[in-house]
Amino acid sequence: MPPAEKPRFRAKRKVKGKPLYYNERTQRRWNRWRKRKRDGLLASLGGRCAHCGSLDELEFDCIEPQGHLHHVSGSGMRLLFYEKQAELENLQILCKTCHRRKTALDVLNQPECPY
Ligand SMILES: [Zn+2]
Repeated sequence: MPPAEKPRFRAKRKVKGKPLYYNERTQRRWNRWRKRKRDGLLASLGGRCAHCGSLDELEFDCIEPQGHLHHVSGSGMRLLFYEKQAELENLQILCKTCHRRKTALDVLNQPECPY
């Protein structure tokens, strides 16, 4: 009888709330990549709220709403999505307050309920 197959990979330390393949080094690299992408995008768009000029709590916003799909994807996917929107000149920066106001207006302007 063949010996039972041993697991080839063993997590050194199980991190609570993270999958087993979670790895601090790749996570750090990933965070760096994300931050660089985000900072680059912010800088290319002026780095301040397009509406009131605020520098606090900046968020990306699609000028023409692109649906809610990208809001539920992972942060990396979302950044790539925003990068694409920036190429199409459909991306702006809004502060949290202005973003919330615009989102509310977008919903009101929807001809049909999106849900
Ligand atoms: Zn604002």
